[in-house]
Amino acid sequence: MKKTIFAALDGNNPDRNIIEEAGVIIKNGGLVAFPTETVYGLGGDALQSASSRKIYAAKGRPSDNPLIVHICRWEDMERIVVRIPAAAVKLADAFWPGPLTMILEKSDAVPAETTGGLSTVAVRMPAHPAALALIAAAGGYVAAPSANTSGRPSPTRAEHVREDMDGRIDMIVDGGGTEIGLESTIVDLTGNVPVILRPGFITKEMIEETLQTAVEADRSLPAAGQAPKAPGMKYRHYAPRGEMTVVSGNREAVTRTIVRLAAEKRRVGEKVGIICTDETRSFYDADCVASAGGGTDAETVARHLYEILRSFDSRQVTCIYSEAFSGEGIGQAVMNRLLKAAGHHILEVS
Ligand code: AMP
Ligand code: MG
Repeated sequence: MKKTIFAALDGNNPDRNIIEEAGVIIKNGGLVAFPTETVYGLGGDALQSASSRKIYAAKGRPSDNPLIVHICRWEDMERIVVRIPAAAVKLADAFWPGPLTMILEKSDAVPAETTGGLSTVAVRMPAHPAALALIAAAGGYVAAPSANTSGRPSPTRAEHVREDMDGRIDMIVDGGGTEIGLESTIVDLTGNVPVILRPGFITKEMIEETLQTAVEADRSLPAAGQAPKAPGMKYRHYAPRGEMTVVSGNREAVTRTIVRLAAEKRRVGEKVGIICTDETRSFYDADCVASAGGGTDAETVARHLYEILRSFDSRQVTCIYSEAFSGEGIGQAVMNRLLKAAGHHILEVS
């Protein structure tokens, strides 16, 4: 067990001493969890292979699942990629700093451990002031996957990081709750056509508008025997401990079905959690009923989703029903994470 240092700061006006201390830890090969605008990241020096190995170990993450390299200055791209395509310049102009990760051909400066052995590297410039300051203090290149144990929902508060990482890493920087609450959009720019490997706050439509070209969305899991494009996609991510089902259809049928299934499960001794909206909350009676927000407010739903899944875990919920959410805008990303959490178990009702 390591002694983990906890340090709270104001995310918008980060304390210089804390940032310096965190930067030194990362430069010396240690690990620091820190807030970004998406979720909390688990940061190590992206250019030291030993740091990346430590990240995999702390998360219990398979080492073929590559890490995202976080930078804080556009000029720093040059050292880690062999070529900067025109699309990357346009996307960075439009969305950086922000919740967009780009996949590019990596240079020799990036160790194979950081990219899970791939010849490409994922790069993002986050928008959070504390994250930007910390990356600069750490030398400019911070590999940071989400700061959760592999397979658990990503952390949106420092308390979530503490649950998973206390005693396993050197420091946790607490900057309060994260604004977006879901991981960054990932776009692969290494082929002829840009491909969205993971939906997020920056939508396909926003990227198409910026690039003025069609963009593909790769939402399917890879076929057996085929190397997955975003290796993370083959794992059951974002998984709560309870068995989860997403119920989709018109509102009346959805609420009626969840009410019935929840009652059946409770009769046989299951502890039931329900994820719903402000509008439907009053219909339900279960062990844990959580509204993620207004039914038309996908941004609020995104911000609350992982926290709800974690609260169900800590209350030992064994069976979860979630209403499906509208797939517009960031709603696409919400549905993507919900379906992953549910192991793609969806019930269509009418
Ligand atoms: P996380 O940092 O926990 O949000 O996970 C990072 C995600 O980015 C995983 O799903 C990875 O598989 C994906 N990723 C990272 N690097 C690459 C890469 N070079 N090519 C494709 N996907 C990547
Ligand atoms: Mg993750």
